[in-house]
Amino acid sequence: MPELPELEAVREVLNKRVIGKKIERVELIQPTAALVMRDLTRGGFVESLTDAKIKTIARRGKFLLFDFDKPAQLVINPKLTGRLQLATGKDKRYKKTAVVFTFADETELRYFDDKAMGQVYLTDDTQRVPDFTRMGPEPFEITREQFRERLKPYRGEIKGVLTRGDSVAGIGNAYADEILWHAELHPFRKRTQLTSEEIERLYDAIQTTLRESIEIVRVEMGENIHLKPRDFFNVHMKTGEACPRCGTTISEISAHQRITNFCRTCQPGGLIRGM
Ligand SMILES: [Zn+2]
Repeated sequence: MPELPELEAVREVLNKRVIGKKIERVELIQPTAALVMRDLTRGGFVESLTDAKIKTIARRGKFLLFDFDKPAQLVINPKLTGRLQLATGKDKRYKKTAVVFTFADETELRYFDDKAMGQVYLTDDTQRVPDFTRMGPEPFEITREQFRERLKPYRGEIKGVLTRGDSVAGIGNAYADEILWHAELHPFRKRTQLTSEEIERLYDAIQTTLRESIEIVRVEMGENIHLKPRDFFNVHMKTGEACPRCGTTISEISAHQRITNFCRTCQPGGLIRGM
């Protein structure tokens, strides 16, 4: 579930709170650890990260990357259900906690994952992390022209093109709905049907939606990085509510194992699959 805006806010907090700290203990907690922790080095999470000092934390797409004063790298891809948490030893652990990193000051960084859909990798090379190398560019690092060029090979529904990660990184189901609402584009229109002006609108909507969302999430999340503030959304998960722009009841379509929300008035077109 965390997408670019949430992970960017998490990264900012972690940068303030854990950079420079040394991990004193690494505790893997079963059964979730067995499902989400992936050691690509065979060196062992505990062996490799005990006494390691966190040097940098970066975000790339929907991944967080931790670098240490040792060769090992920690790469976290929380997918739909994974969350990070800052805590102290006194704070109750979430049931599906997979790993706890304890620092010298007894504060902790934890990863928990209710459905064990995410992955926490230990690696010495990000090229070995699944889905990492095929990722498209960061949305904020791509020009209008580059965006247009990148979309060209894709012919399918525009929502699918945005969320697949290899056209542009960091956008998932929720923010794709929000971006397409801002762009006033029906999520199931084919990329090939979009005019040049519509692609332009989409580019602008990606920039403004993601940037504005980071601002809001930063404030609402604070240091509670396990929270996922989304009340401010305009359409996503707002089925049956009024479109903030025109008042039309927000539609919901279940397709491709996910829910899509949009406004039929603001985002016309896209008659599909008999719906
Ligand atoms: Zn509307």
